[in-house]
Amino acid sequence: MKCDACGAEFGPSQSGVVPYRCGLPNVTLVNVQVRRCTACDNYAVDIPHVDALHRCLAHAVATRVGRLGAAEIKFLRKFLGLAGKDLAVRFKVEPETVSRWETGARPIPGPAEGLLRVLALCERPVQDYAALDGLLLRTRKAGPANPKVSATPRGDTWAVEIGAA
Ligand SMILES: [Zn+2]
Repeated sequence: MKCDACGAEFGPSQSGVVPYRCGLPNVTLVNVQVRRCTACDNYAVDIPHVDALHRCLAHAVATRVGRLGAAEIKFLRKFLGLAGKDLAVRFKVEPETVSRWETGARPIPGPAEGLLRVLALCERPVQDYAALDGLLLRTRKAGPANPKVSATPRGDTWAVEIGAA
């Protein structure tokens, strides 16, 4: 295996510690297999289960005590697979506002931060987000207050319909 920076050979794979550039500051991968270049300081790292790694990082950030930092907001947004403008639409703010949250130019309001944390905590962000997205979009349209709700037993659970005639 050759170094993609200088073309020299990589050394043998060894367990090591390397920084992980995922957009979050100060993330370190520990006990991962690393091959270091014999000629320059480049290295190649084998990252197993990348999806799980990102999910666990997002979980750690979303459950962290204290306000989210700019880099954390951007990381969670990207983890959710959303462009800045997509998040802006969902959170009913201007795209520039999201940009300011992500550069630290303006603090994210508490409710928006809470919603971002909840979204990131969804086990499968894309699927769960779709449901929540629908909910958020529906709240925009004028609808009746106190709509009829029907609850029907179905197996060991219930089928609940809102707005049923
Ligand atoms: Zn090299």
